[in-house]
Amino acid sequence: MYIDKEDIEEHISGKPFQLISEAADELEVEAYVIGGYVRDIFLHRPSKDIDVVAVGSGIELAKAVARKLGKKAYLSVFKNFGTAQVKSGDLEIEFVGARKESYNRDSRKPVVEDGTLEDDQNRRDFTINTLALCLNKARYGELIDPFGGLEDLENLTIRTPLDPDITFSDDPLRMMRGIRFATQLGFFIDPDTFDAIQRNKERIHIISQERIAEELNKIVLSPKPSIGFELLDKTGLLDIIFPELTALKGVETKEGVGYKDNFAHTLMVLDRLSKHTDNLWLRWSAVFHDIAKPATKRWDKRLGWTFHNHNFIGERMIPKIFRRMKFPMNEKMKYVQKMVTLHMRPIALADDEVTDSAVRRLLFDAGDDIDDLMLLCEADITSKNPDKVRRFLNNFRLVREKLAVIEEKDRVRNFQPPVTGEEIMETFGLPPSQPVGVLKEAIKNAILDGIIPNEYEAARKFMFTRAEAMGLTPKG
Ligand code: ATP
Repeated sequence: MYIDKEDIEEHISGKPFQLISEAADELEVEAYVIGGYVRDIFLHRPSKDIDVVAVGSGIELAKAVARKLGKKAYLSVFKNFGTAQVKSGDLEIEFVGARKESYNRDSRKPVVEDGTLEDDQNRRDFTINTLALCLNKARYGELIDPFGGLEDLENLTIRTPLDPDITFSDDPLRMMRGIRFATQLGFFIDPDTFDAIQRNKERIHIISQERIAEELNKIVLSPKPSIGFELLDKTGLLDIIFPELTALKGVETKEGVGYKDNFAHTLMVLDRLSKHTDNLWLRWSAVFHDIAKPATKRWDKRLGWTFHNHNFIGERMIPKIFRRMKFPMNEKMKYVQKMVTLHMRPIALADDEVTDSAVRRLLFDAGDDIDDLMLLCEADITSKNPDKVRRFLNNFRLVREKLAVIEEKDRVRNFQPPVTGEEIMETFGLPPSQPVGVLKEAIKNAILDGIIPNEYEAARKFMFTRAEAMGLTPKG
């Protein structure tokens, strides 16, 4: 990760940095760019958000910078927090005065007082996030690294700058952040830091669920999300924040028959799927797809282990979990429910002969989410038996081909019945009643089963034949 002084200066050579430098010198305060922006320079990661610490008033510095940027800049001052933000184009610069923090046990909100740069670095969560670059002209680009953050970056290590028990007890959200950084960056958690997370795990209870959800989402969106879930599990945090997931762990054997560890399987599916999609809720669907396996596990002398209806039960478990986790209870949740309910369908299909009517029904039920569902199902094939994998994937290819043909021919993806309930009532002089529903359902099934094409004339003709069999006669 070699970066020399010129590389660093290049990253802080842009206009906003020059203006911060001028303003800081004029106000005679020290100013540093600090935290994630500096870390990401060394990691060659793009970063837009810039955090600046002033040894003095961050707000005054922000005002001076905003004046220098002129009309293009928007200044927001948060007096209560002693911070200010300057926005210019797609740049966002946060200003804060260097501060010292002290905590009490029941809250992650610290008592804050003015401090030195070192005090400010002490209050940060991980050594890799404490790196600061001086912006004053005389020391432009000088790196202040009192905790060996650069070395930790090189060794891919997440470590707290102070005693980890204090860092985590002060603000337990940092435990989630540490695991999230390890996952996003592919870093290791230093053993002392890791042990302290284990010891302080119960402190997570003082963190709001929204904050936890935010970190979980970042873990799920990482290149290899299993790293985060494994760490959450090993530290004991997962059991507290998502016990339904740890319940998937373990295997039982009866009469020499076992089943796969569903925790390991779920994480494997999530990683495999994540190679093909950045869709957060599709990735969450992988996390949830087998969530009801512990609740549905049965031993059957003839069949062995079964998890009957785990997809339907899983769908029903989701609202309660979403509510507790403060996940959105809207169409995002409905989408995850749909994926979980349907996740067995393409497999069942591929297991059997792939008939047109089964494919048509799948297309009807999945609608526009069919491609997402197929991605999930392909990721779900984690068998170690190469013959089985080959057979499934081959059948999936067939399902995909048939889906394309049937979609082209029958347009059932966003199926609207060609004959409406109103038309049925009107034709046979019926009030809203059971026979109307029965007729409508019969027409739908005839189309999905390929008995008639998805067309108005054919559907109307079918309606008359079926109505006659039901003893209904057209009005007039
Ligand atoms: P990302 O943008 O990926 O979340 P980041 O490190 O930029 O990464 P921010 O949340 O923007 O994260 O925080 C900016 C900096 O503020 C961090 O680099 C760190 O120095 C400090 N920081 C943020 N949250 C905490 C916290 N809970 N405890 C201590 N320091 C923190």
